[in-house]
Amino acid sequence: MIVIGRDKVSDILDKKAEPAAVCQSGETVVFETRDCYDDAVVSEDRPLGDKGDALENPATGPLYVEGALPGDILKVEILDIAPRSWGVMRSSPVAGVFHEDFSERTARIFELKDGKAVFDENLTLELDTMIGVIGTAPLEDGITTDTPESHGGNMDCKKIVKGSILYLPVNVPGALLSIGDLHGLMGDGEVMICGLETGGQVTVKVTAVKNCQLPTPFLYCRGDVMTIQSAATLDGAGDMAAKAMKEFVKMATGKDDLEAGMLMSLLSNMAVCQVVDPLKTIRVEFPLKVLEAYGYKLP
Ligand code: CA
Ligand code: CA
Repeated sequence: MIVIGRDKVSDILDKKAEPAAVCQSGETVVFETRDCYDDAVVSEDRPLGDKGDALENPATGPLYVEGALPGDILKVEILDIAPRSWGVMRSSPVAGVFHEDFSERTARIFELKDGKAVFDENLTLELDTMIGVIGTAPLEDGITTDTPESHGGNMDCKKIVKGSILYLPVNVPGALLSIGDLHGLMGDGEVMICGLETGGQVTVKVTAVKNCQLPTPFLYCRGDVMTIQSAATLDGAGDMAAKAMKEFVKMATGKDDLEAGMLMSLLSNMAVCQVVDPLKTIRVEFPLKVLEAYGYKLP
């Protein structure tokens, strides 16, 4: 099996990047990822970290998928996410909703064991490990891994978990998929600026899908399909995600604007992915079984 090691990282998703590995469409690939602090924060005593040149949000890759051509969609099946044995959270005096609460950075290290993390003597947290950064190369010049956009990137969507299927645009030959920024756990919004930041191994099956219309980035998770959109404001991102889903519901069901809008108003859920990155991200969820009642089949 192809394994892309955690030495193959970048803080920019760029069409000119040299592929770290090449695979066939339909192949399974393992990405070994660093945490968002570039694995530099390893002690609560040293919250600034141990590397002067640490990358921010390093993503492992990129993976060149043979046969993936511009206009295709890259289907990324998340077969497994195995976080390492520890995670870290850090406060920030300059970023996040609560930055005014802090005059300096502090770090907290958590052991991750048996799918759980102990918060304190009263509370043990169940992990639900998710991928914060996952994207293809954008068509335009490189986009840093702190930013979510139409190519994916730093979407910080807590529904990108084991068992999910993410559909991303293929903007350049090979698609150039990169993955990083795992969170052992994260709440919608990621309000303090971080999740339970960790590294680990992500196993994905990647397939180039031809002649397929989906409003990418598009996600399947636990019975729902989702549009994920990012914009300067939550209002803007919400409008984009809802409108993208309505057009998709129309296509999938054959309904007109009125009935598709009614179905959306009755059944879709709009949720905040994150409010702390350079663009804000909203997802709109819709039950797949409703679409299947009209004969739609997910590619
Ligand atoms: Ca992130
Ligand atoms: Ca993160």
